[in-house]
Formats: sequence, C-alpha cells, structure tokens
Amino acid sequence: MNQQTIQEENKANVKAKRYLNYIAGDWVPSVSERFTVNINPATGEVLGEVPQSTKEDIEKAVLAAKQAQKSWRLVPAPERADVLYEVARLLKEKKEDLSHILTSEMGKVISEARGEVQEAIDMAYYMAGEGRRLFGDTVPSELRNKFAMSVRVPVGVAGLITPWNFPIAIASWKSLPALVAGNAVVWKPATETPFMAAEFAKIYEEAGLPKGLLNVVFGSGGEVGNAIVEHPDVDLVSFTGSNEVGRKINERAGSLLKRTSLEMGGKNAVTVLEDADIDLAVDGIIWSAFGTAGQRCTACSRVIVHEAVKEQLETKLLERVAELKIGDGLDEEVNIGPVINQSALQQIDEYVKTGVKEGAKLLCGGKILAEDGFEKGNYYAPTIFTDVSPDMTIAKEEIFGPVTSIIAVKTLEEAIEINNSVEFGLSSSIFSRDVNRVFQAMRDLDTGIVYVNAGTTGAEIHLPFGGTKGTGNGHRDSGVAALDVYTEWKSIYVDYSGTLQRAQIDNK
Ligand code: NAD
Repeated sequence: MNQQTIQEENKANVKAKRYLNYIAGDWVPSVSERFTVNINPATGEVLGEVPQSTKEDIEKAVLAAKQAQKSWRLVPAPERADVLYEVARLLKEKKEDLSHILTSEMGKVISEARGEVQEAIDMAYYMAGEGRRLFGDTVPSELRNKFAMSVRVPVGVAGLITPWNFPIAIASWKSLPALVAGNAVVWKPATETPFMAAEFAKIYEEAGLPKGLLNVVFGSGGEVGNAIVEHPDVDLVSFTGSNEVGRKINERAGSLLKRTSLEMGGKNAVTVLEDADIDLAVDGIIWSAFGTAGQRCTACSRVIVHEAVKEQLETKLLERVAELKIGDGLDEEVNIGPVINQSALQQIDEYVKTGVKEGAKLLCGGKILAEDGFEKGNYYAPTIFTDVSPDMTIAKEEIFGPVTSIIAVKTLEEAIEINNSVEFGLSSSIFSRDVNRVFQAMRDLDTGIVYVNAGTTGAEIHLPFGGTKGTGNGHRDSGVAALDVYTEWKSIYVDYSGTLQRAQIDNK
C-alpha cells in the first residue's frame, strides 16, 4: 500500500492528536480550515493532523511577530535569557516524552531521538548564557576624548524554515539565538514532523515567552514557506534543507535584499588510511552511514580507503552490517529505523539501480524491505557499494538513505582530492595514526567540519555547524557564530571633547 493510499484511507478516522497553528500566543486553526495527516513512517499509522495553512496565516503570524518584537528588543538580554533557561529546564523534564514523539513521527531510533532532544537542551543552556555575553568590542578611538564600541542589535523578524531529519535540534539552533538576541520568530516546520514543532512551541509558551515572539505555522513549502520568504516584514530567512529549495529561496530572498542563512546537503566521506585502526574505522563508518537510516546531512555517503586495507575493511563492514537490526525505532534493540516516506524510499532505490547500471559492485543490501513484518513502514536494507569511481552518480549526489560507496585510492593526496571533488562541503573524516598526515588532512579537507578518528557525524552545539561550497552560503548554525545570522553590528562613537573632531583629518 503506498503512502498516499494510507493517508486517504485514514483521513476519515483521525482520532489521534490535532494540533493548531501557534500565532500571537494562541492555538488557532488555519483560515483554510483544512488539515494534513501526520504519519508514523515505521508503521503507516496516522498520528494525528495539523493545519494546512495559507499565505493569510503567515500574514497574521508576521504581524504578531513584528508587534511583539518592538518591546522584546528593549528587554535586557539577561532577562530574555531567563526564558531560555526555563525552556532548557522544561526540555530536560520532558526529554523522554519528546523523544518518543520524535521517533514516532520521524522514525529515528529512540536512543538517537534522546540524543537529539539533548542537543536542544544543550543549545538552550548555551544560548541562555549568551544573554550575559552577546559581546561586542570596545576599542580605542584615534581621537582624544572620544569613545568607540560595537554592539549587536536584533535584525527584527526571523523566518525559520526547517527540515524533518532533525526536527527539534535544528529548530533549537535557529530559534534560541534568534530570541536571545531580541528578534521575533515565524517558523514553518517540515510537513513530515509537525508534532515536534508543536511540542517545542508548547514549551516556549510554558516557559513564559511573551505572546507573538514565536509563531508556528504548519503547511507546505510552496505556500507557507514561500510566503515567509516573500513577506516584506520578514527581515531574514534561516533555512535548512535541500540544495534545490535553498537555491530557490536564495534567489527570491536575494532579489528582495533579504539576509539568508542556508544550510543544505552533503556528500560526506570517511577516509581510511593504511595505518588506521580498522576496527575503529568500521565503528565510525557503520554509525555515520547507517545511523538515522543515512538521513543526516552529515551521513557518510562515501568511504575512501587505501587499497592496502580495502579488502580487510570490506570484510569487517559486512560482518557488522549483518548484525544490524532494522525495525520500528521505538524498539530499544533496533539499530536502523525506516526512511521518512514512500517517495524517499523510491528515490533511494533509484540511486541504487543507477549505481548498479553504472558498474558499481553491490556488496550488500540494495533493496526495499517490504515483507516479513516490514510491510507497513518505509524500510531500506543497509547498502554498501564497492569498486565505485568518483565520477559515478552514487559518488557525487546526496542519496539521503542507508547507502554508502567504497572508493579505493593509493595516497592521502588522492583521497583528499576525491573528498573535495564533490559540489558539497559539509563534513569529512580521516582515520589514521600518523599525526603528520592527519594535520595535512585537517588543513586540506575542504569541508566546514572535519573529524579525526571518528565518523562524519557528532557535532557539538558550541561549535559552528555548516559547510563550504554547495552546502551553504557562508553562515553557520549553532556556536557563537549563529549570532551573526540573527544580529546586525552597530558601531557607536561617543565624542566627549565638546568640539567637532574629524576622523582621519584632525589627528594627522
Ligand atoms: P527540503 O528542502 O525538501 O525541505 C526543507 C524545508 O523547506 C521544509 O520545511 C519544506 O517544507 C520547505 N520548503 C520546500 N519548498 C519550499 C519553497 N519553495 N519555499 C520555501 N520553503 C520550502 O528538505 P528536507 O527533505 O526536509 O530535508 C533534507 C535535506 O536537508 C537534505 O538535503 C539534507 O542534507 C538537508 N539538511 C542539511 C543540514 C545542514 O545543516 N547542512 C541539516 C539537516 C538537513
């Protein structure tokens, strides 16, 4: 049964949860009065429904945000931060419930869901701390009796558009710095993961965030997302998602001279040199390639291995894949959950077929799992290709599923060249015990994130997150760098000399 049929069958008897939009501090239906169902990708079960909103709903949300921001920007940042501390505390208190909701609607295994909620907790505490920093510079003036400093000021209304694969972590990376810096937020979460967005909004509400500062509007990218991008009172757009959509947003927002922060796809590689600890490399590859069923922007989609250890690595990888348990992520024993929906499943399968057609050798997997208990969910067998060449489609394009490709090389230089040859630049990793070659790789790998003796995933929230080339447009989520997205710099000169002093003229 395909996803659309399941949706239609269940529309009539939605008795599960119904969430509404959160606008101006109230839970309200869309003006369309229409709803979309939310489906569990592991079981096909309908979890509930959310509004299918329109441009008019965005109008209301932006108006509320604009009004609320006028007074929020005047609240001292340490006081704004008090709300974030409370958000952190509530996230911590509700961690287990939130993790269950996350796994039910997104599919990642429960241990990973707990990790993701923890990431939002960490981010909330970290950004709350920024309420007492938000540092600018105080610098000496070139003139006597004159004072010079720079301060961060809020931008205004931040439009957030987020993907389904990290529904609360990415929302926390964006909404927390935006709010602590004095902005208001209008957020369109992904259509596949609306419940986490509603739960996060409930937490902000319970934490005492004044009405109108966080608005959540459910709906499609084409209608609601686009309305955010185009609205004249949305001052900046922070987007995480695919390159295709990010590019469109950038073109439209660019023509309106809006600031955009874009975090997009990846084609990440683990490099394994001949002196590496092979068992450790296997751990790193299995975790990065098949965790979250390969649906991470940082997933290990390529393994670049020195030819001397290729066979050994392949044998060990195959042994480990055979041990992986696939199923509903709510089962604590399961290692790999479903992929997000039927169309993702088909797309992954298409890539695999292309890989075979282009001459790559399938070591394991390569098929949709549709029998033996897998009938109702969207499951794909963990897949490894070998003898892949860097010009094959599977070695260049983001697959976003549990598929990885082994490419053999003779030298570190060749490995770095292949690593850097793709259009993305998010994450890379190197396994080696040779400190000289590791430092060379750290310098030359052209990605925003580099891991040494670890897989391609595992970012910590107090460092910048993002990538080079086609992965982004120079901004970063998380870390202090995130504040650069949500603030403008204002330079202030105070002349207490009582005379007109002209810079560059009167002191020369
Ligand atoms: P997507 O681009 O399909 O959707 C992302 C968001 O954009 C969703 O909320 C969607 O509804 C909205 N959208 C779609 N069309 C739109 C339009 N025309 N105007 C405005 N908004 C629109 O991506 P996805 O499938 O949700 O997520 C997977 C992608 O996200 C992958 O490419 C992955 O690599 C990327 N990703 C990147 C990072 C990162 O930090 N670099 C992190 C996570 C995911």
